[in-house]
Amino acid sequence: MINKIKSLEKLARQLDPKASQREIWNAEVLEYSNSFINNINASKAYVKSEENGKAISNLDIEEEAINLAPLLESTKKNIDGVGINPASGGHMGYIPGGGLYPSALGDFIAAVSNRYAGVYYAAPGAVRLENMLIRWMCRLMDYPQDAIGNLTSGGSIANLMALVTAREVHTLKARDFERAVIYLTEQAHHSILKAIRIAGLSEAQLRYIPLDNNLKLSPTHLETAIIEDKNNGLIPFYINASFGTTNTGTIDPLEPIAAIAKKHKVWFHVDAAYGGFFKLVEQLHPKLKGIEQADSITLDPHKTLFLPYGTGAILIKNKTHLLKAYHCLADYMQDVVGKEDEISPADISVEQTKHFRGLRVWLPLKLFGLKPFRAALEEKLYLTKYFYNEIKKIEGFEVGPEPELSVAIFRYVPKAGNANEFNRKLIEAIQNDGRIFLSSTNINDVFWIRIAVVQFRTHLEQIDLLLDIIKKIINEERSK
Ligand SMILES: *Cc1c(COP(=O)(O)O)cnc(C)c1O
Repeated sequence: MINKIKSLEKLARQLDPKASQREIWNAEVLEYSNSFINNINASKAYVKSEENGKAISNLDIEEEAINLAPLLESTKKNIDGVGINPASGGHMGYIPGGGLYPSALGDFIAAVSNRYAGVYYAAPGAVRLENMLIRWMCRLMDYPQDAIGNLTSGGSIANLMALVTAREVHTLKARDFERAVIYLTEQAHHSILKAIRIAGLSEAQLRYIPLDNNLKLSPTHLETAIIEDKNNGLIPFYINASFGTTNTGTIDPLEPIAAIAKKHKVWFHVDAAYGGFFKLVEQLHPKLKGIEQADSITLDPHKTLFLPYGTGAILIKNKTHLLKAYHCLADYMQDVVGKEDEISPADISVEQTKHFRGLRVWLPLKLFGLKPFRAALEEKLYLTKYFYNEIKKIEGFEVGPEPELSVAIFRYVPKAGNANEFNRKLIEAIQNDGRIFLSSTNINDVFWIRIAVVQFRTHLEQIDLLLDIIKKIINEERSK
């Protein structure tokens, strides 16, 4: 048996490479990431290809080990070389992602040391760090100091957590679901609909509140609907408002909605996944008034805090609410719960064992300080306004509402022929060029092209390039 153990050990020890091997791998990976970043300006924001990374399947899992070099080569070609490049300043489609470098360093350390950040007892420092970050976000949103929250993997999970918390706080049981009413608008993010289904609330009534001319939720219609629903014996329980819709960056009127929610005792959730961190820009403070009255807020650091994908946040104003929804005691955890200075993420979230997300949030905020974040967000607001003004000046272009944040919509209206068809072709031409990536949307059956300025590498240079690309395409089209 000892011989067997020793021979197994010899192989098993390969999982723990020596310093010399680690140095070789570190150097190769560092070279990969340096070359990726150093070439980012020359790289396309979108690469369409026939192959579409298919060859990655030649590297399926096998018994034998292979070297890092061919794996990185294939990564470069088949993963990082196709589709949308979220690290590119030319990415202005959907809601672009970020990829701040210090976050990569934070993830590296977190993966190497593998702290168990779900539970205070196991990793008190890691939990303190994550809770400190949550408290900072709470302060930023003018929440009380004893508010609470959780770093999630993204905004969708945050929206789901808010809905489940509200369901539990309102003690809704299956028999009530048919009478439960959720208020939202057509502009709400589709993750809300997903959350409703996952939370078992598919039978609940969805009340789509009419939008005003600026695509904002109309508080008057909201209150009328709540009163009517109450009169009909229904249970109004959840309002989803947006601080920055994904489609057009529109801000719902938070203060009047908050007042209605309070008066009728309905849970008030603000989905600020895209817009929330614009609170770092002083000039936007008036627009954010009322967010502090929300029962819950979704934020998404991997959007407007420019982090790499994998970090969202849910903030809940009343700590007991979150505990009510998520706290469970297992016998084998009896040493752990209720005796600590800090609440454990595992007690207030879906997750037990989880990625230690704190370091990837903390390192960039500390290494850069807040100032460049404020500047970058304000810059994005101005870049969007600049684009909006410039595209309007080009003959034939029509624009949507004045951008409130960093999303704008526009379209070309040809003298003859189908406008929707024309704009579909226009966006295809922009995507074929690939230096800039834009996406589109549909509002009341009108096809609009969207620009979303969120990537931290997007500056005036990229906006001017986009304007040049559009002008060139339109000129070619006109001379046909
Ligand atoms: C992106 C977004 C979400 C979903 O967040 P993910 O991080 O993609 O899961 C929810 N709501 C809004 C308004 C968003 O922009």
